Amino acid sequence: MKILLNNASLFESLRPFNDLGFVPTMGGIHKGHLSLINKSNKLCKKTIVSIFVNPKQFNNKKDLKSYPRNIKKDLKILKKSKKVDFVYLPKFKDIYKDKKKSKITLQKKDKILCAKFRKGHFEGVLDVMNKLTKIVKPKKIFMGEKDFQQLYLVKKELEKKYKTKVIPCKTIRDRNNVSLSSRNVLLNKSNLIIVAKIYETLVDIKKNIKNKKNIQSFLNFKKKELKNNYKIKIDYLELRNNNNLKISSTNKNSRLFIAYYLNNVRLIDNI
Ligand code: AMP
Repeated sequence: MKILLNNASLFESLRPFNDLGFVPTMGGIHKGHLSLINKSNKLCKKTIVSIFVNPKQFNNKKDLKSYPRNIKKDLKILKKSKKVDFVYLPKFKDIYKDKKKSKITLQKKDKILCAKFRKGHFEGVLDVMNKLTKIVKPKKIFMGEKDFQQLYLVKKELEKKYKTKVIPCKTIRDRNNVSLSSRNVLLNKSNLIIVAKIYETLVDIKKNIKNKKNIQSFLNFKKKELKNNYKIKIDYLELRNNNNLKISSTNKNSRLFIAYYLNNVRLIDNI
């Protein structure tokens, strides 16, 4: 496993390879990341993982400051997996070398879910993913359904501009069905019990939704119930179509999306 600390060393090392699988991350490596890496390892000749906490996608300074970072531990886990050929650890200037302002804007129809509540977040994600794709030139990029809206927007953006395919990967959960996330280290045991209960509630809502005449009012009712039961702040609880993320009036081909704050940590999930 070769560690690439700047773009010069990346260009030099990657030159011989054209069947590259790329797993972009912000570190805090867990089994969710490793599942993406395994898939890349199976489908591509070489796998490169990047670790870069992209300041431009944080709409909240406190969140950026508290974002878990532990490069040493991350490198140890990646090495032990034996599935990673390169780790790219760019500095800010490797990614943002030209100071030109990014021209990324979201379409009105995409200003939904997290885009509505985290202003500028996806513009930052799309900007960094454009830059990383130009630098790494991967054949395939592996991304998690855990961040479904991110996957949807990045796939739409990159596949029209570059010769790369964005491959969706299933959400990995712990044995209590808590979806793995780097942010989970910011939660205590009793928080994690609540996260597991909220997951159970989501499963229950999804099961019951098909018998409801008015899905919207059912979801509003469940939102209030969740708020009261667990003392959480909920940004959204919405059923949307898998393919175009439009509000859905049927259970078919749809996902239930939630974003909420627990212990001041913003968590998202979809099932
Ligand atoms: P992050 O480091 O949180 O930016 O995540 C890097 C990539 O890993 C993104 O494509 C995420 O969607 C994916 N990812 C994060 N958590 C999980 C998970 N629990 N299961 C599957 N993929 C995940």
